[in-house]
Amino acid sequence: MGPLFRVLVPFGHQTIMGFVADVHEVEESKEELEEINGYALQYIIDVVDDEPLLNEELNTLADEVARYYLSPKVAVLQSMLPSSLRPNRSALNGPKIAYDKFVELIDANEDGLTSDKQVELLRLIAANGRVLKKDCSSPSSLKKLIELKKVRYVNVEKERFHLQEYEKEEAHPLTFEQQAAYEQILKSEKHVCLLEGVTGSGKTEVYLHLSEAYLSKGKNVLMLVPEISLTPIMVEYFSRRFQDNVAILHSGLTPAEKYDEYRKIAGGKAHIVIGARSAVFAPLDNIGLIILDEEHVESYKQDSVPTYHAREVAIMRAKHFDSKVVLGSATPSLESRARAQKGLYEFVRLTKRVNERALPKTSIIDLSKRKVIYAKYDIFSDALVSKIKEKLEKQEQIVLLLNRRGYSPYIGCHDCGYVYTCPNCGSFLSYHKADEMLKCHHCDYVQKYPDSCPECGSHKIKRTGYGTERVIKKLAEIFPSARIARLDSDVSRVRTSMQSTLEGFRHHEFDILVGTQMIAKGHDFPLVTLVGVVQADIGLYSPSYRASENTFELLAQAVGRAGRSTRQGEAIIQTYNANNYAITYGASQDYEGFYLKEMETRRIGKLPPYVYLVVIRVKSKNEEKANEASFQIKENLEGRRFENVMAVGPATPYIAIQGGYYIKTILVKYRKRDELFPYLIELQKKLSGRAGIEIEFDVDPLDY
Ligand code: ADP
Ligand code: ZN
Ligand code: ZN
Repeated sequence: MGPLFRVLVPFGHQTIMGFVADVHEVEESKEELEEINGYALQYIIDVVDDEPLLNEELNTLADEVARYYLSPKVAVLQSMLPSSLRPNRSALNGPKIAYDKFVELIDANEDGLTSDKQVELLRLIAANGRVLKKDCSSPSSLKKLIELKKVRYVNVEKERFHLQEYEKEEAHPLTFEQQAAYEQILKSEKHVCLLEGVTGSGKTEVYLHLSEAYLSKGKNVLMLVPEISLTPIMVEYFSRRFQDNVAILHSGLTPAEKYDEYRKIAGGKAHIVIGARSAVFAPLDNIGLIILDEEHVESYKQDSVPTYHAREVAIMRAKHFDSKVVLGSATPSLESRARAQKGLYEFVRLTKRVNERALPKTSIIDLSKRKVIYAKYDIFSDALVSKIKEKLEKQEQIVLLLNRRGYSPYIGCHDCGYVYTCPNCGSFLSYHKADEMLKCHHCDYVQKYPDSCPECGSHKIKRTGYGTERVIKKLAEIFPSARIARLDSDVSRVRTSMQSTLEGFRHHEFDILVGTQMIAKGHDFPLVTLVGVVQADIGLYSPSYRASENTFELLAQAVGRAGRSTRQGEAIIQTYNANNYAITYGASQDYEGFYLKEMETRRIGKLPPYVYLVVIRVKSKNEEKANEASFQIKENLEGRRFENVMAVGPATPYIAIQGGYYIKTILVKYRKRDELFPYLIELQKKLSGRAGIEIEFDVDPLDY
């Protein structure tokens, strides 16, 4: 295998970009080779890169990831490389000039707009005044808005990315328990260590001390966080401790910033890299330590091809460098915990909060008993309202979790009962008040809020249920003088809003923070003494085999945000399923109890970690063909009589249509990769790309 270069090559009448995968020296002339091979050869037009794009380690890693996830190597490369280095021609126009391209509002009037996507975008820009071009999700709508002179581009000259400077901070001395964990990790002979520490047990301090240890040995550190929203705070911790050794890599950077950071890392100028999922591919050399904070979070897995999980890729890299992987969490994924239990991973625990602060006192409010509900305030129980009041009076802060954005999740006609659903994927449309749109949360469909029912023409449109926007509206009615902020993916679409909301809350510019799962993870807000979960059951009945695990984790993590500094924390959990084990164990943060119960459920259901899963996705523009092929595949698979392989389906997934393709899935449960995977590869070779059928795989799926 040779080094990887991008080249321009003729392809029909076009010039396209490709990778050089391999180089062989030959004796023959072009004509002789054509004669031997029986097909025509073309000369490369140009070599794009002066230096190989990937070093040997990353090139080999790309092959390994492609093999493990049954994905084409070129797709892996697309995920590994910053956009400006990807193998497509537009990358050639990539960042060279240091400008940030913004889109600025000229006129908010919606006349002349021809699609709801355009309306949504104009409303987003109007609400923010100016938005980074890359935050505008629909290029064709943007083009139209420009043509109509509703918005214009402005180039803001930018300082290419540089991190804020922080004053140097000395390390905290570790507590007794932290010290023991630190030593156990350093001494362990295993590649992977699971650091299971209750919320507030000071895992970050352990990460910092471990990093120090590896840096002083001349090794580099890769620090992964599950979400962009958690990067700034982690960057601050590491920058304070290690000053300008830090580089960051995540999808929130502009292409130019990312390009600069990428080259800085590849050039060996950074010793610590911090970032979200894709940073696991950072071109960092000589890695001694890879840390995944909050390892249980699902966003570590990419949901499109290649469907890689950062944990598995981290382990692949650790084997190459003979380095250590630390998986940190208060609520480890069942897979990781089971591996630790079996001795495959080093099992390291922190059982106490720093300074022995107690875990929050938690109560569960049963919403199905209507009399506990504060009738006037609908979804807010008496208990929750009076607790919020008490905390506001004491000038303490409150976090309210509702894992659903928008205003209300169901929109229907009051008169005929018509319900608005997504024409692309069939899920219910949510009403978003901020921009008066209906949106699908499963695909990117949007439409304007209707003035009348398409079935009967009635003007009485009914909105049912709660999302974060509606919680805020109610709260503002109940507590008119409270300062309330919201954080969900609608807010974080414009990246500066997310950072300023989090910082504002940290500096007590707000009393209450309302948000989705984004606010439950990782954050350390010292003044928060109350966590309220408005409705804990959202997600409990989702079709995924991990629904209980996700619900448990979300609750335990949310509850863990309370009482992290000197004051005692409290949590109130409102639910319609007060006796469900995911909810009761989550409320009491009883990981052990949940783990035992859920493992039993998985064992009986023949689900991970007792078996492995792979999903075969059959795609076609023709529904009949997708159907037929998926039945054939299942039959064929069963005909092979593999040992310990079980096929379930075919089924129609929750998102049944994607980008014009009908999708059918077959779930395969297996124990041994060696017998099944060669068959799957053969299957893909035989069927994919023929007769209008595409075959994709999701190895180790999380949402089935
Ligand atoms: P976790 O990630 O385990 O939930 P954090 O790492 O956020 O917990 O730590 C919780 C709090 O305890 C933070 O405010 C942190 O600064 C503080 N802390 C952690 N370790 C120490 C220590 N050894 N001495 C003093 N304070 C500490
Ligand atoms: Zn109607
Ligand atoms: Zn949809």
